[in-house]
Amino acid sequence: MTGALRGVVALDGPSGTGKTTVARKLAAALGAGFLDTGAMYRLVTLAVLDAGVDTEDADAVAALAEGLTLDVATDPEAPAARLDGTDVGEAIRTARVDAAVSAVSAVPAVRELLVRRQRALIAETVERVGGVVVDGRDIGTVVAPDAPLKVFLTASAEVRAARRGAQDTAAGRPADEAAVLASVQRRDQLDSSRAASPLRAADDATCSTRRNCRSSRCWRS
Ligand code: C5P
Repeated sequence: MTGALRGVVALDGPSGTGKTTVARKLAAALGAGFLDTGAMYRLVTLAVLDAGVDTEDADAVAALAEGLTLDVATDPEAPAARLDGTDVGEAIRTARVDAAVSAVSAVPAVRELLVRRQRALIAETVERVGGVVVDGRDIGTVVAPDAPLKVFLTASAEVRAARRGAQDTAAGRPADEAAVLASVQRRDQLDSSRAASPLRAADDATCSTRRNCRSSRCWRS
C-alpha cells in the first residue's frame, strides 16, 4: 500500500537537532518510509571499534566496512539497526560511538559504499510505499540531490546538546552536560570540515534558521 508522500524528503543538519525524530514522525504521518543514514555510519563505526581497527587507518576501515551486513529498518513505526544480524540499536548510540563516528564517516570509501546502499534503499522504499523521508548530513547535496523537498534543520549547539543529554538520560546512559556539549561541537566541526561531502545545506534547501544559511530560499522568506 502506498502513502501520501511521493518521492524523497531530504532532512539534513548537525547533530542533536531532532532530525531523526522529525523524519520518523513525518514518515509515519504520511505513510512513507524513513531512512536514518546516521545509523548506517554508526553501525560501521561500532564494527570498527569492536574489531579494534584504528579509526584513522582509512584502508583498514574501508576493508572492514565492505564485508559488513548492515541492516536499517525503513518502517518509521519499527526502527531497527542490525549489524551482521545482531540488533545493536542501543550500542550505536553510546558516547564511544559518538566519539569515533566522524572519523569513520570521513573515509571516502566508506561514504561511497554507504551512499550506494542508501540510494538502493531509497529506490526500493519509494517503489514499495511511494515516498521516503531521509535524514543525514549530505542527503540534499549528495545522496538525493533531486529530492523535491530539502530541509536543513539546525539550532544552537547549547540547545542541541541539551536535547542529546535529555535523550541519553531517558535511555539510561550517563550524561554530563559539558561533555555532551563538547562532543556535539567536536562532531559539528569534523563533519562540516571534512573533504568528502561535508555537512552543509544544499543551495535549494529550506533552512530552519537564517544564521549561517546560504540558501537563497531562506533569505527570501
Ligand atoms: O545523525 P547522527 O548523529 O546519528 O550521525 C552520526 C554521524 O554520522 C555524524 O556525526 C556524521 O559524522 C555521520 N553522518 C554522515 N553523513 C550522513 C549521516 C551521518 O557523515 N548522511
